[in-house]
Amino acid sequence: MVNLLQFDRGALAEWCEQQGEQAFRATQLFRWIHQRGERDFAAMSNLAKSFRDKLVASAEVVDLAVASEQVAEDGTIKWLFDVGAGDAVETVFIPETGRGTLCISSQAGCAVNCRFCATGHQGFSRNLTTAEIVAQLWHAEFELRRRLGLREGERAITNVVMMGMGEPLQNYSQLVPALRTMLDDHGYGLSRRRVTVSTSGVVPMIDRLRDDCPVALAVSLHAPDDALRDELVPLNRKYPIAELLASARRYLERAPRDFITIEYCMLDGVNDSPAQAEALLALLHGDGTAAAPGLACKVNLIPFNPFAASGLKRSPAARVAAFAAVLQDGGIVTTIRKTRGDDIAAACGQLAGEVQDRTRVVERRARAAPVRVALPASRRSAGEPVAPGRRS
Ligand code: SAH
Ligand code: SF4
Repeated sequence: MVNLLQFDRGALAEWCEQQGEQAFRATQLFRWIHQRGERDFAAMSNLAKSFRDKLVASAEVVDLAVASEQVAEDGTIKWLFDVGAGDAVETVFIPETGRGTLCISSQAGCAVNCRFCATGHQGFSRNLTTAEIVAQLWHAEFELRRRLGLREGERAITNVVMMGMGEPLQNYSQLVPALRTMLDDHGYGLSRRRVTVSTSGVVPMIDRLRDDCPVALAVSLHAPDDALRDELVPLNRKYPIAELLASARRYLERAPRDFITIEYCMLDGVNDSPAQAEALLALLHGDGTAAAPGLACKVNLIPFNPFAASGLKRSPAARVAAFAAVLQDGGIVTTIRKTRGDDIAAACGQLAGEVQDRTRVVERRARAAPVRVALPASRRSAGEPVAPGRRS
């Protein structure tokens, strides 16, 4: 059985041709799956009966198994999906006025091992397949449409950020077809500006993404110099800051936006001093010379979401504000990320905590109430470990 969520439309057309069907049938099939959320081939009324029979015999649309679902007081929804063999990944929906953002995972665990990230602490388990990446969107979109009573053509999810668990650019071959399906007018029809890949800095893959499928790019920088970044983001030893920023500048030649988002996680006493703000400003602003070219960017400061094993603390709000002021006064648009879904540990860097003890996934699944478990705000103080994962 082949899982059709694995295919972007081009690959689906090839598969259809192998089945002796014309390529345009693939577009019809693709629309049933990704625009209408249909997984029952018998219901696909504009496909010939003979083709539907073939589909029933050889193909399927596989949804992810929900291990748990939590709804925060601010409406943020976090799904924990069981992807088998004790692995689970998380997907977070963040509703805002006029838009709905879905934060998607690309790997079970992550090999980059950033100091401040719970997914990193968990270690790397495996890459998700294209089907598993797309299924997070498929599941969330059609589940939300049902719940919100949306009409056909109305979308629940308007933006996707690849900021869940994992380093998307270390799962490149599975990522790109998933992005294409998100962008496809016969699929989810999201504009390139509304799909963001966030990376810790896999330089060669930034260049490939630029050529293969340019979408909005966020670079997780977290430090103004190599010595500190080597410690926080170990991948920096392979691709230091100057190379990373050079690849970001090359990316801009093809990017759908005229800036790169720089993410900077604010860690108390580690990377949040006024001097470090000045150093970051100098690095990003540059002076227009070849020696200091700078980067067209916006900075997003993320208050660190603590978890016990990190030994790190969140910068106090005043320190974050002072840091932001230095950048802003220097002419760099800077925002401070509002933490969302805090009460269900769905904020940036908090996701993996839930999954850290992988052996408990099945147990939790059995325990999980059907759907819509609104957690009391007191959950944390009740001693539940606060863990890191992602997205705010
Ligand atoms: N691997 C990619 C995408 C997933 S991480 C990357 O690193 O960019 C998404 C964002 O969450 C990154 O900017 C990351 O730095 C941030 N993050 C990770 N752990 C965090 C934590 N504990 N608190 C706040 N942000 C965190
Ligand atoms: Fe991996 Fe991103 Fe976490 Fe670093 S911050 S360990 S790259 S998921």
